[in-house]
Amino acid sequence: MMTPIKVFFLEPTDRERRWLRRFSFSDKRQCPKQSYGCHAMFEIGEADILYTADGYIDATGRLMPPKADPRWPKACAACGRAFDDGDEWQLFSRQIYVRASDGFRCTLEDAPPGACWNAWWIADRRSEEQIGCAWMVGPDGRSLVVKCPDGHQWMVDARASNCTKPDDDKHHCWVRHGRPEDGTLHVDKAGNTCAAGAGSIQTGKWHGFLRNGYLVE
Ligand SMILES: [Zn+2]
Ligand SMILES: [Zn+2]
Repeated sequence: MMTPIKVFFLEPTDRERRWLRRFSFSDKRQCPKQSYGCHAMFEIGEADILYTADGYIDATGRLMPPKADPRWPKACAACGRAFDDGDEWQLFSRQIYVRASDGFRCTLEDAPPGACWNAWWIADRRSEEQIGCAWMVGPDGRSLVVKCPDGHQWMVDARASNCTKPDDDKHHCWVRHGRPEDGTLHVDKAGNTCAAGAGSIQTGKWHGFLRNGYLVE
């Protein structure tokens, strides 16, 4: 049995980490060492996030450093092939999140197991009536995601792959109780639900539960 992992909440900040990324699309040049194209990134630090008027992250307004900037990766990190000018140039970024209790910061991609956040970009687009697994929104109007021990991002308010009521949009395949902010988040089948599973999550590599604020097997 694994040691229980405490579930904790991450809040978005107005800062992002940035990388200079070179890559090729696999249909243009397949990398011999991986199932997609060649790829390499160099981290260049943090910056303020730019937002659109609607409050979404504006990916188009960032100023890309000139191609002569020596921080651009020169070669694929997997196979070592040198990039040429025709390969893609990208200023890659990820929003930084923070844990309020101790100021711990991370992106969602490198958040450790137990991290929980609200996928507000899903939840904010729903109306007040759109609560249920069809809309991936829970009873509090949020769309919560929990990072599992294998790195899988569990969308707790989404429909389970083995849902037995695929035509019922209002129920929740996973019923959640409590809140991630105070360590009481709990997922089971007590509520308007279907017959799928026992409130557990099966990621393919990991099978477990979220009980009383902890991921457990
Ligand atoms: Zn490569
Ligand atoms: Zn269901």
